[in-house]
Amino acid sequence: MSRDQPPQRSHEASTLGSRPLYALSIRQPWAWCIATQHKDVENRSWKPRPDTVKPPFDFAAHASIYDEAVDLPIPAANRKLRALEAEARLAQRALPQHKYLRTRCILAVVTCTGFHYWEDCMFQNPPEYSCSPWGLHQELHWQLANVRLLPSPVPCKGRLGLWPLPPAVEAAVRAQLHRIDT
Ligand SMILES: [Zn+2]
Repeated sequence: MSRDQPPQRSHEASTLGSRPLYALSIRQPWAWCIATQHKDVENRSWKPRPDTVKPPFDFAAHASIYDEAVDLPIPAANRKLRALEAEARLAQRALPQHKYLRTRCILAVVTCTGFHYWEDCMFQNPPEYSCSPWGLHQELHWQLANVRLLPSPVPCKGRLGLWPLPPAVEAAVRAQLHRIDT
């Protein structure tokens, strides 16, 4: 490889750099919905302290526990989830054993591009939609973009709030990001 080649521009360099990578624990199948780019809004009652992160910032999407019998608001996502469930059953594995429906692992790195309260979008997009079919009443909407799905989910215990990854987990996630970007 020539030394004259310009450095590869990467997602990691553009949005994450050397800043610490924080994680957000999200229940399944919502984490899968985000990691597969179906879900573009995360609903929370809070936002991170501005001395921690400010939009746009990258975070690791962590799959925590599984919510049973969830009906997703997007028919295409629902169909895909049901197909994954059938596939997992055929393989005689519990549903969370499917790679991206597993729990207690990091599935993807996602950019949060901003926050707004539901009142700011809910009545501006008729009839009953907010900024997204995933945006809920009474919640703060985290706007999501630039999803980088990790080829191998990284096992990790979850926590509340926006939490720093353990160093070994962060190294494993960054190594996969690097491979995705180059
Ligand atoms: Zn919204």
